[in-house]
Amino acid sequence: MSEETIFSKIIRGEIPCDKVYETDEVLAFRDINPAAPVHVLVIPKRSIVHVGQAHQDDALLLGKLMLAAKEVARLEGLEESGFRLVINNGAEVGQTVFHLHVHVLGGRAFSWPPG
Ligand code: 5GP
Repeated sequence: MSEETIFSKIIRGEIPCDKVYETDEVLAFRDINPAAPVHVLVIPKRSIVHVGQAHQDDALLLGKLMLAAKEVARLEGLEESGFRLVINNGAEVGQTVFHLHVHVLGGRAFSWPPG
C-alpha cells in the first residue's frame, strides 16, 4: 500500500479534478500542470506506489491501466497522431506523487531520448 497522497484525495472527491474517464478500478483526469496539449493522468483507485512496488497480484490492474490509457487517447482524439505514455518510477527520475500514474501525453511532437 502507498501512503496518503494528493491523488488519494482526488479519488475520494475531496479535491476536484477534471475527469476524463473512470471505471470501478481506474480514474483518469487532466494534469494540473500540462506538459503537452493533451496531458492526462491515469491512476488505479487501489493505490500502488510505483511499478517498482507492484506484485503479481497487481497484474490485472496494471493491464487495465494500460487499456484505460488507450481509451483516454481515443477519447482525446490521439489515435491517428499517436501519443506517449510515461511512468516515472522513483524520485530520482522525476516522480513527485507516490501513487502510480500513467501520463498520457499528446498533441505535439516529442523527441527521443526523453529528457
Ligand atoms: P510525476 O512527476 O509524479 O510523474 O507526476 C505527477 C503529476 O501530477 C505532475 O505532472 C503534476 O503536475 C500532477 N499533479 C500534482 N498535483 C496535482 C493535482 O492536485 N491535480 C492534478 N490534476 N494534477 C496534479
